Amino acid sequence: MELSEYVATIKDYPQPGIVFRDVTPLMADGNAFNYACTEIVQYARDKGIDLVVGPEARGFIIGCPVAYALGVGFAPVRKPGKLPREVVEETYEKEYGTDTLTIHADAIKPGQRVLIVDDLLATGGTIEATIALVEKLGGVVAGAAFIIELDELKGREKLKGTDYKVLLHY
Ligand code: IMP
Repeated sequence: MELSEYVATIKDYPQPGIVFRDVTPLMADGNAFNYACTEIVQYARDKGIDLVVGPEARGFIIGCPVAYALGVGFAPVRKPGKLPREVVEETYEKEYGTDTLTIHADAIKPGQRVLIVDDLLATGGTIEATIALVEKLGGVVAGAAFIIELDELKGREKLKGTDYKVLLHY
């Protein structure tokens, strides 16, 4: 399947000069969404995954069907103030300023093997912070998967050798 047919490209969104890749048409098409999730499940199948972790908000949409198909649970990574119980936090650098992500402190049991899923790898700040959160809780990042990688932003360098799968490169 040619997944790129289901990615919309929006120039100058959310700011002038940014080319935004929108995967909501892919999510809205049953065959394309099923194909993308199945590719990620096949990638993860032999990795002994215990838990899928996904950052808000599109990481939830792709991470949950992947977790369901693998027969494991899902833990959300969210912006500060969104999770109701004790959290651990990680702050990371953005182009302008910093951002913080959180996860429930009991979301991962030490030694659990975690697959991180998100829609898109750009500068890698989100995945770097998510890896740090998983490792703070004693989890092992066994792999990561994205529908899209924006190659020129070099997010792969933030993965620091973590094995990962990408379905589309731009
Ligand atoms: P990074 O932290 O710079 O790697 O950005 C990745 C995060 O920002 C992911 O959670 C994406 O959902 C979101 N993101 C960044 N750029 C885009 C884009 O062009 N389309 C969709 N999401 C994006």
